[in-house]
Amino acid sequence: MVLSLVEHDSGAVDDNSLEALTLARSVADDAGEALEAIAFGPEAEGVADDVGAHGVEVLNVVDHSDLDDYTPEAYARAVIQCAEETGTEAVVAPGTDRGSEILAHVAAKLDETMAAEVTDVEVGDTYELTRQRWGGTLIEHAELDADTNLLTVAPNEISTSGTGDGPADVSAFTPDLEDSDLRVRLTEVEESDVEGVPLAEARVVVSGGRGTDGDFSEIEDLADHLPNTAVGSSRAAVNEGWRPHDDQIGQTGNKIAPEIYIACGISGAVQHMVGCKGAENILAVNTDPEAAIIQKADWAVTGDLHEVLPAVSDELERR
Ligand code: FAD
Repeated sequence: MVLSLVEHDSGAVDDNSLEALTLARSVADDAGEALEAIAFGPEAEGVADDVGAHGVEVLNVVDHSDLDDYTPEAYARAVIQCAEETGTEAVVAPGTDRGSEILAHVAAKLDETMAAEVTDVEVGDTYELTRQRWGGTLIEHAELDADTNLLTVAPNEISTSGTGDGPADVSAFTPDLEDSDLRVRLTEVEESDVEGVPLAEARVVVSGGRGTDGDFSEIEDLADHLPNTAVGSSRAAVNEGWRPHDDQIGQTGNKIAPEIYIACGISGAVQHMVGCKGAENILAVNTDPEAAIIQKADWAVTGDLHEVLPAVSDELERR
């Protein structure tokens, strides 16, 4: 059996979990195994339709009052016990903060190894993996030879595909926790004060770099004129204190996959581009026709962003 960890927001499956399910299904098919899923939280049953449509036969819903809130070590204990009960040969998790943290705890508790940022698996006597290193600047081929193969899936790298099957069968699973599993417990949640469309969900991202010279008003104005649009930035702009780190795109920031990424006054350093390579289209606005981002963009405007952006916003306002 292959077990896939599913994250969700009130019963709506997170996109990276659908990517993990897609990879888990191909592992299960190659290995001739069934695919099951495990989900936590009060509304976990709500994912049964979505995971069933991605080939999951059984959804294990963790039923334990101590696990309604995120508790990484205890979640890992539940994953281990569920995997043992169902005879799992591989556990696949999305390469999100939580997915990576839970699977790292699973690996530590089992004294197993874990392969992170996987994009492809060929199952034979061992698992032949393709995976990303250094935020995707390096692709690595590796062999994994473990009793339980633990994999996280690189976010925004796999096209999700459904099977069209009906809902998964829901099975309640109650783990037997140890005191040490609850050493870290949630006491309070503070919402981030970031307003507007979240970067991960935006269809368009307008981003600014050092070329803005600290003035993001034209970038914000353009974002306001476009539907479902968020503002991002390069690390240079964050380092200058012009934008919060929450806005940063790149290797040490957000990895985004909008329909259009509009990069203004950004040179296109490799560490920046790994954060936006999931974008369907890139539009660059830069005064330097030789800037690296011009070569990587689908469209480019050579010009001063302080002139180009107001002209575009004015035109959008006029229509
Ligand atoms: P610059 O490279 O200085 O480019 C500014 C651009 O603006 C130039 O191309 C210039 O021609 C153009 N310009 C200037 N004036 C105008 C104008 N008026 N109108 C239009 N264009 C103009 N960077 C990230 O962004 N994200 C990361 O996550 C990240 N992680 C990193 C991790 C590591 C380990 C390291 C070493 C670096 C990382 N960096 C990251 C930094 C990265 O290498 C670059 O230094 C950074 O992306 C540069 O930011 P920038 O393009 O805004 O600035």
